[in-house]
Amino acid sequence: MTNKLEKSDCWLILQNNCLLLKENYSIPCLTASETASLSNLFLRRYPLGSLHHYNLYCAEIPIDCSFPQMISAFPLKKALEHMNNEWRHFLIKAHAIINWDKNHQYCGHCGSKTIPKTSIFERVCNKCALSFFPRISPSIIVRITKGEEILMARGHHFAPGVYGLIAGFVEVGENIEEAIHREVKEEVGIEINNLHYFGSQSWPFPDSLMIAFTADYRSGELVSDTNELEEANWYHYHKLPGGPSSSISIATQLIEDFIKTRSP
Ligand SMILES: [Zn+2]
Repeated sequence: MTNKLEKSDCWLILQNNCLLLKENYSIPCLTASETASLSNLFLRRYPLGSLHHYNLYCAEIPIDCSFPQMISAFPLKKALEHMNNEWRHFLIKAHAIINWDKNHQYCGHCGSKTIPKTSIFERVCNKCALSFFPRISPSIIVRITKGEEILMARGHHFAPGVYGLIAGFVEVGENIEEAIHREVKEEVGIEINNLHYFGSQSWPFPDSLMIAFTADYRSGELVSDTNELEEANWYHYHKLPGGPSSSISIATQLIEDFIKTRSP
């Protein structure tokens, strides 16, 4: 006899960047019985860890296969927005693990088949022993303010009404602070100071670890890089032209934090 509550298995199943869920789901995954009819379609599967009384697994099914009528495919961003932080962590992990496994079946150095190690997310070349791990791309995002105004920017590919903050990938050889100053200079031509760490967020589009800072405008004239940006400008926090594409992004948190500290 054991007093421990038995854990049940549940599955985060991805198909072409969508998560399979039951309509009106109570937990954002499929139970073992709901998954049973799909398991022969799995292209890859991995254990993710445990959450509360669930053992979580991820799997991928082919783009062109159908699934039972009671199950729907939710785009990843929409699924993330409807989850709490605990579940979000596992869905982002599932997405990263599936992409890592799919994209590293062969060695990038010698072309031989790679073999997954047990108990760790690592694929190893069976010929030259080179290892391949899930990719994490460090990226910076910075909220730059000047008095009551926030610097908001729009990329060319943004949906109507979407505005964000200055952001970009950390380049090889850079530390995070250097990446921020370079990105700001390149994108809008200004100098900033008073950099303060704000927080971080794993963001699976495609595989970023967003490292967020706040900063003050120091000097220079705003000149936006037209290759990257459609527009960049200072906006009073009461009159923002739009907002980030996702309500759960750290960009939204940065902006809301500024508004909260300024509002009486
Ligand atoms: Zn190799």
